[in-house]
Amino acid sequence: MINIVIFGAPGAGKGTQAQLLAEKYDFLHISTGDLLRQEVAANTPLGRRAQAIMNRGDLVGDDIVVALLARALQNRSTLPDPDAAVDPWDRERKGEPHRPEGCIIDGFPRTVQQAQTLEFLFSKLKRKIDCIIAIDVPRDELVRRIHERAAISGRADDTEEVIRHRIELYDEQTQPVLDYYRVSGMLVTVDGSGEIAETNARICQTLERIMSLK
Ligand code: AMP
Repeated sequence: MINIVIFGAPGAGKGTQAQLLAEKYDFLHISTGDLLRQEVAANTPLGRRAQAIMNRGDLVGDDIVVALLARALQNRSTLPDPDAAVDPWDRERKGEPHRPEGCIIDGFPRTVQQAQTLEFLFSKLKRKIDCIIAIDVPRDELVRRIHERAAISGRADDTEEVIRHRIELYDEQTQPVLDYYRVSGMLVTVDGSGEIAETNARICQTLERIMSLK
């Protein structure tokens, strides 16, 4: 089992890449943005608290995001318990031998504090993060993609103004997380300036190297 965190500024394509990797390698994909959007869509109390913050492009409070992430990580129907005699995932699949080959986390951590929380959550689950992938896209290419995405995405937080604010927050709060991981030696930066397939091929090459060492 390999545990990966994927990073990228808004417009870098982290969600798209996480989804492609999850399909290709049978990873469990946990996106905190998707978990929050599900809460908003279901109009839960948590979703109602998060909605206005997300629409402004601000960061939702750790109390909400960490609760959702912890639930997703501990959900035994999606992530097998390493100590269980019988893998609950297999049981849920009615005996079909199946087990996700890994887990890819997208959208978390966004602050150094969240990075520390993630380590704590993983240590409680007796797991560790194997690799941090940062998708690097030059600023002018991000801006070009933002124009394109603002016109078609339909997401309330994908207006040009809000995306610019999200990029500022990324620079201020999330970039320091990369420095935090850089010292651990787990950080791999991948050029994400080209087409989706090109970036994907680069990430796959890196991952396959890491998986072959496990
Ligand atoms: P994303 O889909 O990753 O771009 O996230 C969409 C929005 O969800 C962000 O702009 C934040 O408002 C919120 N969000 C997602 N992940 C986090 C997080 N780790 N911490 C705080 N807010 C988050």
